[in-house]
Amino acid sequence: MRKELEGQVALVTGGSRGIGLAIANALAEGGARVAIVARDGERSRRAADELAGEGHAGFSCDVSDPGRVREVVAEVEETVGAVSTLVNNAGITRDNILLRLRDEDWDDVIAVNLTAAFHMTRAVVRGMMKRREGVILNITSVVGLMGNAGQSNYAASKAGLVGFTKSVARELATRNVRCNALAPGFIDTDMTTELSEDQVRGLQERIPLGRLGEPEDVAGVARFLAGPSARYITGQTLAVDGGMVM
Ligand code: NAP
Repeated sequence: MRKELEGQVALVTGGSRGIGLAIANALAEGGARVAIVARDGERSRRAADELAGEGHAGFSCDVSDPGRVREVVAEVEETVGAVSTLVNNAGITRDNILLRLRDEDWDDVIAVNLTAAFHMTRAVVRGMMKRREGVILNITSVVGLMGNAGQSNYAASKAGLVGFTKSVARELATRNVRCNALAPGFIDTDMTTELSEDQVRGLQERIPLGRLGEPEDVAGVARFLAGPSARYITGQTLAVDGGMVM
């Protein structure tokens, strides 16, 4: 039976571990060929080798370097194929209370979480517009919707992605390029391993479904948004958070 993403090429930034890796897996299971992009190229290649199906590849790229972003998109298009789905997932935190937040903590988080999504999107949309088909998926966070003490830089970057998503969706809808955002709640990955047991307990009390999420909880929704069942959905931010934001 034909899978719903067959023929698609998906570029997933930060696809070497955590949520990005689960999304890469889900898209590969849906039949897409997947390009995994992260700073650690060896890890990206190993992750790509383990995906279901054929034709995947891993690449090394710091998404906060605009020149390297242009190069890697060209490499992906040459070796894997023209990008039809872009998942802007790579993200970092540099948490601190406002008064202790250093300029570089602000700049690094905005560069990786927000500006890189602009550079990546700009690098792939020309082809999508020509082919009259494309999907862009931006991984934001419930923190971008609710705010969080100690994460003003991260929240600003993620709220910025929501506005970016809506504008790109409006701009490219007539070319059949859809752009949506996914807002995970607290998901069990390297990013959240530093939470203390007390913090985890506190969080669980704020999650109606009573548990932290798994990367796969997010990945299934990404596969849906990337596929034909979501063909009439654009400009949306979907929270995948066990009910934290209602
Ligand atoms: P993670 O486990 O820390 O993984 C981050 C991924 O991004 C890795 O593949 C990493 O690979 C890559 N990456 C980081 N900086 C990069 C850069 N400059 N250039 C290229 N790749 C880079 O994070 P995660 O928890 O899966 O989070 C994934 C996304 O979901 C992020 O945007 C995060 O903000 C968002 N999110 C996470 C949670 C959560 O609770 N975990 C909640 C809401 C939203 P390299 O280190 O090799 O570059």
